[in-house]
Amino acid sequence: MTYVYTFASGDKDQRDLLGGKGANLAEMTNLGLPVPPGFTITTEACRAYLRDGGDPDGLAEEISAHLDALESTMGRRLGQVDDPLLVSVRSGAKFSMPGMMETVLNIGLNDESVVGLARQSEDERFALDSYRRLLQMFGATVLGIDAEHFAEALDAAKKARGTDSDLDLDTDDLTALVETFKGIVRERAGREFPQEPREQLDLAMRAVFDSWNTDRARLYRRQERIPDDLGTAVNVQAMVFGNFGMSSGSGVAFTRDPASGAQGQYGDYLQNAQGEDVVAGIRNTVSLADFAEVDRRSHDELLAIMARLERHYRDMCDIEFTVERGKLWMLQTRVGKRTPEAAFRIAVHMVDEGLIEMDEAVTRVTGAQLAQLMFPRFDESAERTLLAKGMNASPGAAVGKAVFDSDTAVEWADRGDDVILVRKETNPDDLRGMVAARGILTSRGGKTSHAAVVARGMGRTCVCGADTLDVDTRAREFRTPDGVTVREGDLISIDGTTGEVFAGEVPVSAALVVRHFEGEKVDDDLVHAVARIMAHADGARRLRVRTNADTPEDAARARRFGAQGVGLCRTEHMFLGDRRELVERLIVAEDEDAQHAALEALLPLQRQDFVEIFETMDGLPVTIRLIDPPLHEFLPDLTELSVRVALAEERGEVDERDQVLLRHVRRLHEQNPMLGLRGVRLGIQIPGLFRMQARAILEAAADRAAEGMRPLPEIMIPLVASVRELEIVKADILAVAREIEEEREVTLTYSIGTMIELPRAAFLADRIAKEAQFFSFGTNDLTQMAWGFSRDDVEASFFSRYFEHAIFDVSPFESLDQQGVGGMVEMGTKKGRKTKPDLKVGVCGEHGGDPRSIHFFDKVGLDYVSCSPFRVPVARLEAGRSVL
Ligand code: PEP
Ligand code: MG
Repeated sequence: MTYVYTFASGDKDQRDLLGGKGANLAEMTNLGLPVPPGFTITTEACRAYLRDGGDPDGLAEEISAHLDALESTMGRRLGQVDDPLLVSVRSGAKFSMPGMMETVLNIGLNDESVVGLARQSEDERFALDSYRRLLQMFGATVLGIDAEHFAEALDAAKKARGTDSDLDLDTDDLTALVETFKGIVRERAGREFPQEPREQLDLAMRAVFDSWNTDRARLYRRQERIPDDLGTAVNVQAMVFGNFGMSSGSGVAFTRDPASGAQGQYGDYLQNAQGEDVVAGIRNTVSLADFAEVDRRSHDELLAIMARLERHYRDMCDIEFTVERGKLWMLQTRVGKRTPEAAFRIAVHMVDEGLIEMDEAVTRVTGAQLAQLMFPRFDESAERTLLAKGMNASPGAAVGKAVFDSDTAVEWADRGDDVILVRKETNPDDLRGMVAARGILTSRGGKTSHAAVVARGMGRTCVCGADTLDVDTRAREFRTPDGVTVREGDLISIDGTTGEVFAGEVPVSAALVVRHFEGEKVDDDLVHAVARIMAHADGARRLRVRTNADTPEDAARARRFGAQGVGLCRTEHMFLGDRRELVERLIVAEDEDAQHAALEALLPLQRQDFVEIFETMDGLPVTIRLIDPPLHEFLPDLTELSVRVALAEERGEVDERDQVLLRHVRRLHEQNPMLGLRGVRLGIQIPGLFRMQARAILEAAADRAAEGMRPLPEIMIPLVASVRELEIVKADILAVAREIEEEREVTLTYSIGTMIELPRAAFLADRIAKEAQFFSFGTNDLTQMAWGFSRDDVEASFFSRYFEHAIFDVSPFESLDQQGVGGMVEMGTKKGRKTKPDLKVGVCGEHGGDPRSIHFFDKVGLDYVSCSPFRVPVARLEAGRSVL
């Protein structure tokens, strides 16, 4: 087993083994770019270390051999007293986890070599500054000392000097600071700072390995769905110094603007600084244009290299570089992260520049990014009072009452309030509150803070690091510098796209992309980019996309968004509102006549519902599911009604209607309603109900057809477990159809199919297919029934523990459990088509709009997915990406 590779022996495709940073350092080395030499310790070494609790056999020797080679290339030994070679030790996992893991620079310095470095460099200040940085980083990351202790000592030194810039500290200050830092190490870690260079290197490497498993790294991985078992590589690289006086510096750059996607290089440079200073924002950086003024040669070389990297990677790259006394060095490159907006623009720009084909452009954007572009925005023309500006951590426009702790967030949200959770910063205990809130606002922390990372993972709007706000969680309020106080319960509006925080409720308006999907003519380059990508995805995809819609309005919108039919119309939603009373009459009917009368009253109303939906979906299939939920859902709550009746009786005011209702509520009460009288069971128990619905559907279709339209109803039976159930209700529906055909002297076009949402149905799909013209997988119930999880309870109950234990990394109600529930979908489809090769098969559970699940459904050969109207464009795009 080889655990260590020199940069020259790898390439960019070895991210599994060398991590992203290592693989790209190797690639740049082989491109002949100026990369300081070094080697990569593999992810395999990390996995072995974490598994066995120590360095794997042979690793130490391999490192020694590579260190020897590096030393001879550089002509200096690590920590050599008169002229030390120094190295950096950096983490680098397969997927970038910004800020989550460790880096230690200047390894090899100690009390002696710092003197040698000062002499060699003829710059004592630089040598001391490098040493104090090593002590600080090593202390915090390797020895686990709270970084605050070092930061406070550094602040104190600056204060004593009367400055707020570290550049003003002179050699005396730095000499003192080095001693202070060593004292902090002694006191806090209970040991001396290790003077032996190789020990420094080994400890730093192990600290990087260990950092794979910190809480924040685990949480980040869970949010970003990065597997827990990959491990990180470690890159050991000869140091080059950006803090070597004013002709040196460090910078970060992007080959295009990662925020907007606009063409043109973009970056920040900081003179006399090491890399972490640029990101930490301790001094103000200058733009690339100003960098040209400082050091034209390095600037020009950098731009040429950036252009070359972008052509080579055929994508937007981000880059870290250092200039040491006028010589440019490349420290990192990778395909850069970008906002959704930038992703769409860059993809089509690159097509126009001939760098990629349209097929590839479609794979360069995601449904999740498209969904983000569809979030509503605050109306810019509305009057707004800006309270603060923080970082735009997770997009969207959220309005709600300010709350300052998770318990209140959950409590208020439960009672129906929209809330914004306001915290100084969040920690994992706030997860419940974040889930309950519309948005999250913090006064501390950057875009990789817990709040930001978690909010993005959940798709919650988040503004973080609004540092002008004084958040006082005890007093349940925050204050702005101009004296405005926002108290618990006051409305605020936060814009996660711009980072702005407004007082009160700012009205929202639809995003441009949505207005385009709605059919409006929008002249905007982002909209044009989205339209081109969507057109290409539509042309490529095999999977059809339908919508779940219960109202004509939803159906119409979904059609504008590109839906190719209705995959699920839940008819029970048509029994609510004013019609609840009619349903009540049906339930309390004491004899057949009363039942019949109640159904007769419902019939015309139902028919009208379908007439309108057929009209909006003219020419496209409309799957209408007969009533599914248990009947008690249409009656008053048992406890409330009992109390009402008891109180009335006490007062001697007997309400007979209530008493009758109570009797029926008690009769229908079930311990496990999800497993009770619902779906097809209702249809068998109260046959008139399904018959009435079938009549409403088919008469509506006949009405539409009579007017020259082309209604295509598909009548769907829910919760079927046995083919016999289907046979019974199907016979009833066929009889109704024949009646209508005779009454109206027409031939109806319709089909009858079933949901597959019980494990038994999936197992017996070959038999069920004999009686069904189509299947639609109800993956909500199928997930509930397969795992035995109550879909209404478990997510808020114990799922967070399940995430912690990596039982799954995402709720199986959100993204399909491909092995278990997916296995049933695959089996059910195969079995069904064995009986009926042309059986139409779709899915209408929530998973129909989930990107990962859509790829799975495509792979197992379903004909369509059905999802909520707003997810339709997302599903179209993902269905396209799935085949490209
Ligand atoms: C399902 O179970 O997946 C489904 C679509 O039906 P419902 O969510 O209405 O139970
Ligand atoms: Mg269901």
